[in-house]
Amino acid sequence: MERKNAWNSYSQEDLQQMEAVNEEYKKCLDAGKTERECVGEAVRRAEEAGYCELFEVLKSGVKIVPGMKVYTTYMEKTVIFFYIGEEPLEKGMNILGAHIDSPRIDLKQMPLYEEQEFAYFDTHYYGGIKKYQWVTIPLALHGVVVRKDGTKVNIVIGEKEDDPVFVISDLLIHLSKNQLNKKAGEAIAGEKLDLLIANRPLKGEGKERVKAGVLKLLKATYDIEEADFLSAELEIVPAGKAKDCGIDRSMILAYGQDDRACAFTSLFAMLEVERVKRTACCVLVDKEEVGSVGATGMSSKFFENAIAELIAGMVGEEHYSDLKVRRAMANSKMLSSDVSAAYDPMHADVFEKKNSAYFSNGVVFNKYTGSRGKSGSNDANAEFVAELRKIMEDNEVAFQTAELGKVDEGGGGTIAYILANHAMNVIDSGVAVLSMHAPWEVTSKADIYEAVKGYRAFLKDA
Ligand code: MN
Ligand code: MN
Repeated sequence: MERKNAWNSYSQEDLQQMEAVNEEYKKCLDAGKTERECVGEAVRRAEEAGYCELFEVLKSGVKIVPGMKVYTTYMEKTVIFFYIGEEPLEKGMNILGAHIDSPRIDLKQMPLYEEQEFAYFDTHYYGGIKKYQWVTIPLALHGVVVRKDGTKVNIVIGEKEDDPVFVISDLLIHLSKNQLNKKAGEAIAGEKLDLLIANRPLKGEGKERVKAGVLKLLKATYDIEEADFLSAELEIVPAGKAKDCGIDRSMILAYGQDDRACAFTSLFAMLEVERVKRTACCVLVDKEEVGSVGATGMSSKFFENAIAELIAGMVGEEHYSDLKVRRAMANSKMLSSDVSAAYDPMHADVFEKKNSAYFSNGVVFNKYTGSRGKSGSNDANAEFVAELRKIMEDNEVAFQTAELGKVDEGGGGTIAYILANHAMNVIDSGVAVLSMHAPWEVTSKADIYEAVKGYRAFLKDA
């Protein structure tokens, strides 16, 4: 089949809209470098678009009716948006799902130590990273520290123009004979990913004066003690903003595009869509990169619970029935959106050309993912794929189909199979990315634009 590059079809107006979408997308990437920040940004935008907090609405006694826009968050790391459609919820929803956690390096619970007058934060990486990619690049620190009394401090260091940044050191080439003979995966050990944070000793007597200086600064700036790190979630991410990439500005280089390329485009579609027949839903979820576990991961009951609350809010608790929840779930359709591996001519040997995702060829549909014989994959139903083909064509959305690399070359999973457990139609879809999981990932602006169009069409027509 012939591949079509979306750029060739754009009118002047399309190009303007595409640039506008990508400007908003870059702003979201800059505002959302952690799952908590993504939830904050998504909620802020949703409230501007008329969304109200679900439990506030329920508490007020107002009945949930068609046309209402509500959202709920879980532990500030996962969020669900609903736009109530004309049809009863039991007939199912059109769901957009994506994850907002990204590979990064987390601080350990007891992170701060001093070694030879350098102060460090000890770390434990999160998700799949090539450790050698994270040394000698400017890094920022984002997250929260929760004091014993429950008060919370938000911390972001390394993003403002005049902020200091952090770094993880690497061995100089002159002494790297042994290191360079190691396998790439072993060249930087996990315990060597500690963040260099200070070098200046606090004047006075005693040991570990550099660490003492850091603690004094933390107390003065944030009013936190060393023990407060025990109850903190601090994440080390690449410092700096999302940027246009390429002399023609056709691409975007940014941190965390897996999977915020799908999360923010899903959010845009959700906030733009008007007058839906079936209830539209967008779920932005945490913990995908570590297996969708935990209370804020897709395997948690939070989603089902929200549907139950929603139904109770529609029919009244006295008429609530578990059957209604089950029907709502089973009759739903979902685009489980996660990034696809873009065909990379520099590493062509791992791709199978006919079934690869290409930059600027539009939304990618992966009928199945998995590894070693589709293991662990949600294999979407052919009937559902046919329906999506029609929706995309009717709405002039550029789309392509792909799988992750050559057979037996590796593989990966997404949240698709978890929702499919509720017996709904689910397919993996998303945006093609180069250098996935690297500190700086690349996408095509055309694909970001087509994703928004595709998600909007799905919410409207599926
Ligand atoms: Mn992903
Ligand atoms: Mn990933």
